[in-house]
Amino acid sequence: SVQLDFLKELGIEQRNPAFSTGRKFAKLDENRETRKIFSPADGELIAEVEMATEADLEIIIKEAQNAFEIWKVLPAPKRGEIVRQIGEALRKYKEPLGKLVTYEMGKIYQEGLGEVQEMIDICDFAVGQSRQLYGLEMKSERQDHRMFEQWHPLGIVGIISAFNFPVAVWSWNSMIASIAGNVCIWKPSEKTPLTAIACQYILQDVLNENDLPEGLFSYIIGDASIGAKMSHDQRFPLISATGSTCMGKKVGEAVGARLGKSLLELGGNNALIITENADIEMAIRATVFGAVGTCGQRCTSTRRLIVHSNVYQQVKDRLLKIYPSLSIGNPLDESKLVGPLIDKDAVDAFKAAIEKAKAEGGKLLIGGESFHAEGLSGNYVQPAIIEAENHYEIVQDETFAPILYLIKYSGEVENAIQIQNDVKQGLSSAIFTNHLLESEVFLSAAGSDCGIANVNIGTSGAEIGGAFGGEKETGGGRESGSDSWKAYMRRQTNTVNYGRVLPLAQGIKFDI
Ligand code: NAD
Repeated sequence: SVQLDFLKELGIEQRNPAFSTGRKFAKLDENRETRKIFSPADGELIAEVEMATEADLEIIIKEAQNAFEIWKVLPAPKRGEIVRQIGEALRKYKEPLGKLVTYEMGKIYQEGLGEVQEMIDICDFAVGQSRQLYGLEMKSERQDHRMFEQWHPLGIVGIISAFNFPVAVWSWNSMIASIAGNVCIWKPSEKTPLTAIACQYILQDVLNENDLPEGLFSYIIGDASIGAKMSHDQRFPLISATGSTCMGKKVGEAVGARLGKSLLELGGNNALIITENADIEMAIRATVFGAVGTCGQRCTSTRRLIVHSNVYQQVKDRLLKIYPSLSIGNPLDESKLVGPLIDKDAVDAFKAAIEKAKAEGGKLLIGGESFHAEGLSGNYVQPAIIEAENHYEIVQDETFAPILYLIKYSGEVENAIQIQNDVKQGLSSAIFTNHLLESEVFLSAAGSDCGIANVNIGTSGAEIGGAFGGEKETGGGRESGSDSWKAYMRRQTNTVNYGRVLPLAQGIKFDI
């Protein structure tokens, strides 16, 4: 049986509040609808959450608007100081929060800890960034004029997140958004609301200690309907949404219709290329982590393995040797490498995809069945490898489960790149090669069309320092590092005339 002390440590009760505006939480109310949250690891009921209503969203928005008036004029490094303290608080709760991520979402504990570490890292990054929200100075064509640009906060940033990174994605958005002077309203995935509530309790201490206004960081528990409500609402100048492409198209349309900004982080269909010049052992390690890590439920999971015909058999043999030895089971047990899928629907989707691949001519080499981990009724499956062709309908789709499609290519690296790019999504990509020309072609304009392109590193496991996101149906958004902060601010061009006359641009004459 699983030890659940961490729930208490994080403030999670049997029944949990529908929303919080930062320091205050909604009162529990018997009349509210609830949602039961079961662990994918053992099928046990973890807790219930009360569902918020549209009226609750109104309360939250009002508080957020008030907070923005104060927060937007606070010097950015002072905002950074609050984020620094949030990072410290997260360090304190790293282990219990990592365990809750594992227990509620199902990723193995090492990855649960890794997710919280990512939150800490982004806090550190945001603190530094708070002193670097700089604009450029441009030379004016007019005498005694100064032209420059400034970056100002937007207002309320709506964050809609997916179940698979239940807390990290929120922190990428909210920590950068808040040093930029915005206030945030978070609608976590309805599948993983408890981790969100736990984060809010961690924040609450920092907000109280600094006597900060209500409304800086809020959460609201709800399903797609609350997310849709946020997307249509003019009072959110930016909606950052992470999830399926199907969701992103709806959010993008709703926000676009009101000419708001959206930052979309959607599905991937990531490929790893192994050329005949690769270090095969390194490539295998990256492939296995990418394909079965988080039980294939990362947006960057390796879904297609494109292998040169000269090394194809060798790669296939190695994978078929390793897969049977992968330890599947309770993700809190540190000896396991593969945890469960999020729910029964995900298990059904996994099996349906395998059937479809077979019907299209694919050959199932290994796995594909449910797995009964000892004494646990979780959603465990045996990771699958299927020999397939890139044009199969099912290979073109993202199935959020551990299925690896093995695809053979021959001839030059350009052939592999063409296969890799020939999907609707464009998130992450990787090549394994020790041949300089192959890797440079892969990184060139004629190479990978993805937002992330790695050499001798797998498709998953990005660092926070780079901008994260992808092209095509992945949505085009960039979050986290590099200059992603700009997405959370509005650019203002300023021209100041310090002369005594008023020359017009382009030398236009206008004498009155
Ligand atoms: P999902 O699309 O089912 O749900 C994601 C979030 O969107 C949830 O909070 C959900 O309530 C909300 N939502 C759903 N429909 C909505 C609508 N019409 N309007 C507003 N909100 C709506 O996705 P999921 O199953 O939680 O997550 C898995 C998907 O997320 C995969 O496709 C994965 O690739 C993707 N993902 C992408 C990234 C990335 O950075 N590119 C990161 C993590 C996950």
